[in-house]
Amino acid sequence: MKKIATIFLILLSFSFNSSFAQKDNISNQNTDSVAVVYFIKEITPENVLKLYKAMGVELKGNIGVKIHFGEDGNKNYLNPELTRPLMEYTKASWVETNVLYVGKRRFTDSHIKLAKEHGFTFAPIDILDKDSEIEYSTNGMGLKHYKKIKSGSGFENYDGYIIYSHFKGHGSAGFGGAIKNLAMGFASPGGKMAQHASDVPVITDASKCIKCSNCINNCPANAISYVNDEITIDKNKCIGCAKCIAECPKRIIKPENTKLESNVFLERLVEYAYVFTKKKPMVYINVLANISSSCDCSARAPLPFTQDIGMLASKDIVAIEKASHDLVAKGHNCEDAFLKESGVSGLGQINYAQELKMGTMKYKLVEIK
Ligand code: SF4
Ligand code: SF4
Repeated sequence: MKKIATIFLILLSFSFNSSFAQKDNISNQNTDSVAVVYFIKEITPENVLKLYKAMGVELKGNIGVKIHFGEDGNKNYLNPELTRPLMEYTKASWVETNVLYVGKRRFTDSHIKLAKEHGFTFAPIDILDKDSEIEYSTNGMGLKHYKKIKSGSGFENYDGYIIYSHFKGHGSAGFGGAIKNLAMGFASPGGKMAQHASDVPVITDASKCIKCSNCINNCPANAISYVNDEITIDKNKCIGCAKCIAECPKRIIKPENTKLESNVFLERLVEYAYVFTKKKPMVYINVLANISSSCDCSARAPLPFTQDIGMLASKDIVAIEKASHDLVAKGHNCEDAFLKESGVSGLGQINYAQELKMGTMKYKLVEIK
């Protein structure tokens, strides 16, 4: 039986490796097949490298590890030491892009300085939009929302990427994993704006507002104020960055569209991610630790709502996101832990990614000891 399972895995591995030789085919996974997702419970630096090797892919040339350095004040971002053996083995650089909103990660110099303060000191750091922006046409891709997408010009300088993601909640995306790390993470500030635009949040119950002004102080567009003593968002000024959603301690600021079928924001994220996966070979590692309802962009992210689960790796972005989501839900005794915790479901990301044939929700979890 063990022998059959091994042969099965070798065959799967062979088929994925073949697609790796032709980067344009990587995203066109057959949604009828079953993708392998490797799982390891113990979250250690050595195991991050073990997971990368388990995928059987040797990315060649100039490799970027797409990572999040954590917002100033955030306590939940992943310990950089976890990536040390991976960075040494692959001789990769950490890659990121500048953000849209006010703060240290807005500009390249202060972004790199913050990353170093957070312990990212033992590999090169490359902010991909430090020089300029690049645009990719989506002609012929059959996307609903974009004719072109925007990244940093440095995206072109790499031969392949390891998308290393902290799987946790996100105020308007439900959860942030590999799809979000790719979509927002590789987008230039202009691209981030294009994904957020018209995603103006709403104040769901102003009577619960404690007038802490966190939302006002963190809004990069000066779009929030007290009007007649009531907290109010000016839709004409809002750039849809979602910072206020993450900053509100009473959780009364929510994305306007939270229904799966109408959540255009999730589709926009997926379309950005889709284009990036078409451009370069990529593999995915998700770390399921410090799982709170807010993302690492939040200076005041709440404490984790569930225990650490482990780490996953796959060549299939849909499969790894589905497996990660399933494990968090299982650990939290429900079907959608992020919906339960923050009132926002991110399942639309996974559904739409499969619809675009980025991968399959059918996965086989292979635990590595
Ligand atoms: S109102 Fe909220 S979403 Fe709009 S710009 Fe300000 S912080 Fe961002
Ligand atoms: S962050 Fe929330 S509680 Fe604080 S002022 Fe804004 S809406 Fe009110």
